[in-house]
Amino acid sequence: MNNHTLANRDLAVLWHPCTQMKDHETLPLIPIKKGQGIWLEDFDGKQYLDAISSWWVNLFGHSNPIINAAIKVQLDSLEHTIFAGFTHEVGIKLAERLVAITPAGLDRCFYADNGSSAVEVALKMSFHYWRNQGQRNKTKFITLENSYHGETLGALAVGHVALYKEIYEPLLMDVITVPGPDCYHRDSGESWADYSRRRFAIMEETLQQQAKSVCAVIIEPLVQCAGNMRMYDPVYLSLLRTACDKYHVHLIVDEIAVGFGRTGTLFACEQAAISPDFMCLSKGLTGGYLPLSAVMTSNSIYQAFYDDYQKLTAFLHSHSYTGNALACSAALATLDIFQQQNIIEKNKPLAAVMAKSAERFIEHPHIAEVRQTGMILAIEMVKNRQTREAFPWQERRGLKVYQHALSKGVLLRPLGNVIYFMPPYIVTEEELWLIADVAWQGIHLATQD
Ligand SMILES: *Cc1c(COP(=O)(O)O)cnc(C)c1O
Repeated sequence: MNNHTLANRDLAVLWHPCTQMKDHETLPLIPIKKGQGIWLEDFDGKQYLDAISSWWVNLFGHSNPIINAAIKVQLDSLEHTIFAGFTHEVGIKLAERLVAITPAGLDRCFYADNGSSAVEVALKMSFHYWRNQGQRNKTKFITLENSYHGETLGALAVGHVALYKEIYEPLLMDVITVPGPDCYHRDSGESWADYSRRRFAIMEETLQQQAKSVCAVIIEPLVQCAGNMRMYDPVYLSLLRTACDKYHVHLIVDEIAVGFGRTGTLFACEQAAISPDFMCLSKGLTGGYLPLSAVMTSNSIYQAFYDDYQKLTAFLHSHSYTGNALACSAALATLDIFQQQNIIEKNKPLAAVMAKSAERFIEHPHIAEVRQTGMILAIEMVKNRQTREAFPWQERRGLKVYQHALSKGVLLRPLGNVIYFMPPYIVTEEELWLIADVAWQGIHLATQD
C-alpha cells in the first residue's frame, strides 16, 4: 500500500469536503497512515507537522495516550445509546463539567453531534423561547459581516462568507447582516479597542431599530476564523452583551472554533467577562477525536420550555448520535488534560514564541498585517503592502504556500491569501520556528512575480 494506489482508489469513489475535486488531477491527495503527537505520516513514510490542528479540532496531538485510554475504557462498557428517555454517566459528567467551566449562568447543556448542528439548535431554541413567551414577532437573527457558523442551511444563512454562501442564497432565510468590528480595516494608528467600539455604533443602531423582530445576535467572539482569521477587541462583546439585555435580544456566542483555549483563555467570552444566553461548543471539545457538540444555555431559558406535554412547548429537536458516549469520554479526558496540566498557563509562553517567530513577516513587502490572538496567528498576504490591494483570488497564491509547506513536511492550509498558525498545544518551540520558517519560504515563493 502506498500513497499512489490509495489516492487512486479514493478518487474513484470519494468526494471530499470543501474541495474542487478536479484539483486532484494535479494536486496529489495525501493518504494518512497514522498520527502521532503533532505529526501525521502518509503511506510513503513522509511526515507532516499538523500546524492547523486538522481543521482546528486537535488540541493535544494525535494518538494522545490519555484520550486513547479514556476511549478504550468507555468502549468496553458502552459505545452509544439513545439519549431520549435514557442517559449515561459520561454524558452527565461532561454536562456537569461544562456547566462548571463555562461562564456563569450557563447551567444547561444540550448535546448535538457537530458544530453546524449546535448552531441550528441555538437558533431554533432562541426563536422557540420567544414564541413560548408569546412573542411571535421575533423571527430574525442579526449576524456580522464576514462571519462563519457552519454549512447546513440555517448555519449558512447566519454566516457571511460569500465563497460558501452566495450560490445557496435562494435557499436561505433572511438575516440582518451588520458591518463588523474586523480590525484589519481600522485606521492607521487606531487601536483595536477604539475601532471595535466605533463599529459597535452600527450594531447598537440596528438593535435599536429592529430588536422587536429579532430573536438573537449570533457572533464568533474575538476571532472570525473561517473569515480569514480576522480579529477584534473584547470591548465589542461587552458592549454587545449590554445592548442585547437592553433591547431584549438573545446573545448566541459561537465558540466552536475559538473555545478551549485558542484565544488564550479557556473561552473567548472570558476576555470580555460576559455570559451569553447560548454558547455553542464543538471542534476542540473532544480534543479532535470524535464528533460532538454542545449548546450551553441558562436555566431561565430552559424553564420557558418546561411545561405539560400538551402545551407543546418542548424542544423536539434530536440527532441520532446526540451525546455519543465515546465522544463524551474523549471530551472528559480532554478537560482532564486542561486541568491537570494547567494548559492555559502553559500556552502563554508558546503564544509568545509564536509571536516572536512571526516578527520578521511584519516587514515583508507582500504582507499587510501579522495579527495574533492567543494561540492563533495570521499573516495577511497582499499584492501591495501600502495600498493593501489584495492578490486576485484566481491566482491562488495561498495554494502555492500550501504546496511548498507540504513539500517541507508542514501542513498549512491558508484561507485565501491568509496564512495562519493554529497548532495543537503540544507544539514545541522548535516546531513553532519550523512552521514560521516554512511559511516564510512559502510566502517568498508565492509572491514572486
Ligand atoms: C467549524 C465551525 C462551525 C461548524 O462546525 P462543523 O462541525 O464543521 O459543522 C461553526 N462555527 C464556527 C465558528 C466554526 O469554526
